Amino acid sequence: MRRVRKLLAVRYNKNTMNKYRETYSRVDIKECVFCHWEKYNPGTIIKENEDYILVPNTYPYIKDHLMVVIKEHVTHLLDEPFNEKKLELTKEAMRLLESLGIQSYVVIEREGQKAGKSVKHVHQHIIPVHEEHDITYNMAPMEHTINFQEQVETYKKLLGAK
Ligand SMILES: [Zn+2]
Repeated sequence: MRRVRKLLAVRYNKNTMNKYRETYSRVDIKECVFCHWEKYNPGTIIKENEDYILVPNTYPYIKDHLMVVIKEHVTHLLDEPFNEKKLELTKEAMRLLESLGIQSYVVIEREGQKAGKSVKHVHQHIIPVHEEHDITYNMAPMEHTINFQEQVETYKKLLGAK
């Protein structure tokens, strides 16, 4: 029988949030925390390749929250070059979670402040979803009367498709 791990959510108390703000507010363009990962989070690189590092989120939403961070200082997702080295570490992260008995997780990348991107250096989150959580709680399909055919035509036009 599969051993069920006791999983504890990280509690965000006042001190944690203050530490978070303190860390990120003193960061300027010359001193991006993600460009200097080792300095701010010594000994926490799980794996790396030429272009990316796989690290734990040191301000995790939940235990075993991982991140894949590009080594180069790229601020916008659109400026990130296509690179299979990223996928390599994303899959390593997934394998790691699977080997911890975690079979449900979400992979997300945020762009823009409204989307919750706090550090302006491209990074990907790999976040475990545990049994006691219901990730779908606010992701129920909306009621809609969307004409998809029309939408697709608009999308194609915007992307310059013939
Ligand atoms: Zn950076």
